[in-house]
Amino acid sequence: MKRLLELTLFELVDALRRGNVSREDVVDAYLSRIKEVDSKLHAYLAVNEEMRSNSSSEGLLFNAPIAIKDNISTRGLPTTCASKILEGYIPPYDATTVARIKAEGGLIIGKTNMDEFAMGSSTENSAYGPTYNPWNLECVPGGSSGGSAAAVAAREAVASLGSDTGGSVRCPAAFCGVVGVKPTYGLVSRYGLVAYANSLEQIGPITRDVRDAALLLSVICGRDPNDSTSVDPPSKDYLSALVVDVKGLKAGIPKEFFGEGTDPRVAEAVWRAIKLLESHGMEYEEVSFPHLPYSLPAYYIIAMSEASSNLARYDGVRYGFSAFEEGEEWVKVFSKTRALGFGAEVKRRIILGTFALSAGYYDQYYLKALKVRTLIKGDFDCAFKKFDVLLAPTMPLPAFKIGERIEDPLAMYMVDIDTVPINLAGIPAISVPCGFVDGLPVGLQIMAAPFHEHVMFRVAYTYEQCSSYHNLKPPI
Ligand code: GLN
Repeated sequence: MKRLLELTLFELVDALRRGNVSREDVVDAYLSRIKEVDSKLHAYLAVNEEMRSNSSSEGLLFNAPIAIKDNISTRGLPTTCASKILEGYIPPYDATTVARIKAEGGLIIGKTNMDEFAMGSSTENSAYGPTYNPWNLECVPGGSSGGSAAAVAAREAVASLGSDTGGSVRCPAAFCGVVGVKPTYGLVSRYGLVAYANSLEQIGPITRDVRDAALLLSVICGRDPNDSTSVDPPSKDYLSALVVDVKGLKAGIPKEFFGEGTDPRVAEAVWRAIKLLESHGMEYEEVSFPHLPYSLPAYYIIAMSEASSNLARYDGVRYGFSAFEEGEEWVKVFSKTRALGFGAEVKRRIILGTFALSAGYYDQYYLKALKVRTLIKGDFDCAFKKFDVLLAPTMPLPAFKIGERIEDPLAMYMVDIDTVPINLAGIPAISVPCGFVDGLPVGLQIMAAPFHEHVMFRVAYTYEQCSSYHNLKPPI
């Protein structure tokens, strides 16, 4: 048998159910692994030592330790969004995704580091210090769910949840050499997810292989009366989609995803993956998305506008940090709390978002961005009339060095070029490891039509089973 920490989620649950390993073995192995490596990685903001004593039901995730991004509410465990403004906040309820994991017997092993309020692509915007990439400690793990991806890659959790507003699950999955899924908008409940940009975001699994992602998505998906945007998919059984067979499937290769700024070595790795799938019977054709070049500006205007409104609730009265002093006027308390509590990137976005929504500028920025979004969605609708999936790089480059982009917000935003169109269109996408550049992982992005996760999983699984990158593990 493989060493305990090397078992995938699927294998671990199987071993636990058969009694080949005990819950104590699993909990001890993972907690000692965290003690061993997390001082170097800083993937966790909080570790749940109580896991030992919580009782769990014998479900699909029986006694498997799952890590949760720190913007997803966990009853009794801190949920800070990696912000000073929520320091010490402990939610009184579980997010629906967390409740569903627990209902299937999963254990919550801890809360993972992230960019403050999920704003960033490197996890350097955390108020509690960055997470480091397990493949190279000088590099970022990607973001904003950097802690969730690093924890899974470094065997500090068997699987995790992240949130993806503009790439935050797929980017760190690609940079850390693991699998990450951004589900169709509406497939997974956001009840209990601290809102950043509601019209774009979804919670998604980060795992070591495609089967684990399919399993975890089956558990968390589906209609929740507490999130009016959530719906039931035609079938929640994603595991049955896992066949090694792409014969007769048609893939579109959108040229714009390989444009200027794409590292040629990344493009090469992705093309090798496309050719491999072709050799197994998939057909492909290059296609052009005329409105794609406008997705980055449209995304940032929409995301910042929604953020400026969502973050108005942090006023020092209701949650977390407060600069309250006896006798001080409330307006002063309010602005002092926000000045001290939010980090630089969050403030930048609140200011820009407020501007984009203000009278006189609304039509020029916010409304225009919404119109562009409709055109981009139209490009995808058109492509899915002809193709089953679209294939592209997840990120235009491998993980960059810590400190390399953090002083230049535009350079940071640019790395999201291949992930944000998916959120604007509301479609599902998965990132799977497809190669290495300078010892750093590269991700292949597979997109499908809304609620066609099964086709996305089928192509991802076929690719994974015919390649071997998911078997490699970081040196740490
Ligand atoms: N990097 C993007 C942003 O900063 C995406 C973040 C996310 O998906 N949460 O908005």
